[in-house]
Amino acid sequence: MASFKIGKVIIRNLFRKPATLMYPAVPRKWRELTRGHIEVRMEACILCGICAKKCPTGAITVDRGAKTWAIERMQCVQCSCCVEYCPKKCLINRNEYTAPETRKIRESFEKPAELDGI
Ligand code: SF4
Ligand code: SF4
Repeated sequence: MASFKIGKVIIRNLFRKPATLMYPAVPRKWRELTRGHIEVRMEACILCGICAKKCPTGAITVDRGAKTWAIERMQCVQCSCCVEYCPKKCLINRNEYTAPETRKIRESFEKPAELDGI
């Protein structure tokens, strides 16, 4: 009986399309709610540091003196806490992942000088 069930599964799978994709030849389609990559709109950011305080992995660093906002990409677990708590709604979690890397990536963004009135 068990071999009959296994035979059915084998025959069904022989005619099915594979569940995997031929990545990177066939790119992944991200779902609308996929959490993948934090982006900041520096023109709206007031460098309050709330996102850095709420980040559970310490991936964000806000330097008010240098007027920079920075993120350690490989430290971010895409939880979206920073997005939820940002009072200026200037963080978004894009629905595509940060490209894989073999080294740590730190991205730093500077507040535009003409918008310094904070
Ligand atoms: S919480 Fe928002 S406004 Fe405050 S530093 Fe972070 S990104 Fe900027
Ligand atoms: S998504 Fe989560 S882990 Fe990533 S920077 Fe925001 S708070 Fe930190």
